[in-house]
Amino acid sequence: MKALLPLEDAQQRLISMARPLPAETIPIGDALGRYVAEDMFARRSQPAADMSAMDGYAIRFEDRDGPWQIAGECRAGSPPCPPIKAGQAARIFTGALMPDGANTVVMQENIERDGDKIRLISEPSPDQGHHVRHAGGDFKSGDIALQAGTYLNPAALAHGVMAGLGNLSTGQRPKVAILSTGDELVAPGADTLPHQIPASNDTMILAMLSQLPVLARSINRIKDDMDSICEALESASDCDVIVTIGGASVGDHDLVAPAFERLGGQTDFWKIAMKPGKPLMAGKLGNSIVLALPGNPVSAFVTATLFLLPLVRYLAGANSPMPVMQAAKACSTLPPTTQRAEWLRAKVDEDGINVFNSQDSAKLSILSAANALLFRPPNSPEQPIGATVSYIAI
Ligand code: AMP
Ligand code: MG
Repeated sequence: MKALLPLEDAQQRLISMARPLPAETIPIGDALGRYVAEDMFARRSQPAADMSAMDGYAIRFEDRDGPWQIAGECRAGSPPCPPIKAGQAARIFTGALMPDGANTVVMQENIERDGDKIRLISEPSPDQGHHVRHAGGDFKSGDIALQAGTYLNPAALAHGVMAGLGNLSTGQRPKVAILSTGDELVAPGADTLPHQIPASNDTMILAMLSQLPVLARSINRIKDDMDSICEALESASDCDVIVTIGGASVGDHDLVAPAFERLGGQTDFWKIAMKPGKPLMAGKLGNSIVLALPGNPVSAFVTATLFLLPLVRYLAGANSPMPVMQAAKACSTLPPTTQRAEWLRAKVDEDGINVFNSQDSAKLSILSAANALLFRPPNSPEQPIGATVSYIAI
């Protein structure tokens, strides 16, 4: 029997089959969830000049004990108010430019006002520059605002906008086709006969992809016959990735691999040393990367998490496309593993990580109750309670 391919090797080989897609420039307001294609530099400094961080009074630190004579008012959105001199203060609001001469702001809560005179009713400012946001204190013009490969979350978009960017160079969204096979599958919500099941993987995989920058479409419930599968594969030839679900084992009705080969597909790897998800196939068909996921719902979920999503992130321009591994303390003894890496459905909380008793790769009730996939490396000895283990949050 051919040796199973180690998990990391398979992940690496899949990424090696791909190239990040070319960049496209889009308005920053449309860039949520994309990856930055090239380093983008700040076109301005933030703040552009010293400004107040509080509503209060701008003073000279040298005069920090007061009292002061009010010599002007500085508002956000107005050019700087006139300079202040010794013994003077300017009324100032959050986000207003500091007037020349002033270097410190006293909060209005610490001041008592009498006409155009003010005095301190609390401790003097402890240091020069108190409650002042200094020019370039957040970032400077020319700094890298958004690094190539960064995921554009809401905060990154805000940073880009503040840096003066109106458009961003982002990776294009990969085109992904999802093809699910199986004579037993029926549409969501439809009544089922005992020999039928609702096609849950289709909805699940589309939902997993919806969190990434993709253009996804699906062809659902393809019949288990060569012609239907070939036709579906051909109709997706414009896609960067064709992901098939089901029909990837070696049963008589597992026709994805034969159909793929009939169309001239080149297999890169098949069968991974992992549990669940052993019968995973990857290859090239024309310009598309074909990833054939097993049909068992948990196997499909795990292989999509470890292979499909990283591939899509990589194509879309991510600099770290692999799932983030986290650490937790095991709440129970973990048995030794074989040559296959294992991904156990588990629940992580403040006490540690708990593995579900049943690890049946068809049980969606367990998968949906889990919030983590606990990783057990191949050939690992038993792990005691309290051992530090790795997991992926799901
Ligand atoms: P297969 O990989 O086609 O041998 O399928 C393995 C198991 O997964 C079988 O019990 C199938 O009925 C089930 N299965 C296959 N495709 C889907 C799907 N789209 N949704 C839910 N279960 C599926
Ligand atoms: Mg099947």
